[in-house]
Amino acid sequence: MIFNLLTEQDILALRRVIDASRRIMAFTGAGVSEESGIPTYRGHGGTWTKYDPEKYASIDYFRRDPSYFWRFFREVRMDIMSKAQPNGAHLALVELERRGRLSAVVTQNIDGLHQRAGSQQVYELHGNTTRFYCTRCREYYDLDTIRAALQKEDVPHCGCSGVLRPDVVLFGEFLPEFAMERAIAEAQACDLCLVIGSSLVVYPAANIPLYAKQAGAQLAIINIDPTPLDDYADLVLNTPAAELLAKAVEVQENK
Ligand code: NAD
Repeated sequence: MIFNLLTEQDILALRRVIDASRRIMAFTGAGVSEESGIPTYRGHGGTWTKYDPEKYASIDYFRRDPSYFWRFFREVRMDIMSKAQPNGAHLALVELERRGRLSAVVTQNIDGLHQRAGSQQVYELHGNTTRFYCTRCREYYDLDTIRAALQKEDVPHCGCSGVLRPDVVLFGEFLPEFAMERAIAEAQACDLCLVIGSSLVVYPAANIPLYAKQAGAQLAIINIDPTPLDDYADLVLNTPAAELLAKAVEVQENK
């Protein structure tokens, strides 16, 4: 992966936009958790290069053959998700919220790391892959229960014999209405939208930073690769997020 090395100038530039704002909304994607050891979908080493998202991330395919998703989950995702720890970027957002500067984190991530880091106001646009529910009776299950079930069966089942599924938005499903409404409201109320680690190509989520910009907020994008919204942004930093945010906000990194 080729990216710019972090410079003092980047840190100061980010600190300047943060210090000038009163109400920050963070909009995060897979890249914010990359330094926690969770691969992104796109780009170098992304999981899409090895597994077929048309199958493991599609509701139609899940209904036809849930074992494909569960095999992918057991082999690729389960251990990574349970071992991952929040990094400096997650912790910086917690600190900004604690200081009363950040009102919400709107995330496309499904790893729950913002909440584990301590963020209070988190809106998950794509659900959470550490939660599961029964497709028949909607009873909820946690990751430990699923791990134990996967030792006994290829496709975990509920006590009512319904098939269990992850509490994530699969291709072919709608985004959760409440989270989307809150995300739009936060975008329209913030004075700085801080995009961290998102390719900004997944819609409708990628509209959120645009709503913020259209409502008059500053837009800062921290992403290793260029994004389609770079031309609209007031600040673009193509550097890894964890150290940059930790230094700009002055928090200790989790290493
Ligand atoms: P994406 O995979 O499309 O893009 C990630 C972006 O992050 C890339 O543009 C890359 O340049 C950038 N990036 C990678 N490492 C970075 C780092 N250390 N610092 C800064 N930027 C970095 O992800 P997306 O935009 O979130 O959208 C795709 C979908 O991926 C979402 O629906 C999300 O649910 C899902 N996803 C989530 C996780 C997770 O929960 N951790 C992991 C993979 C994919």
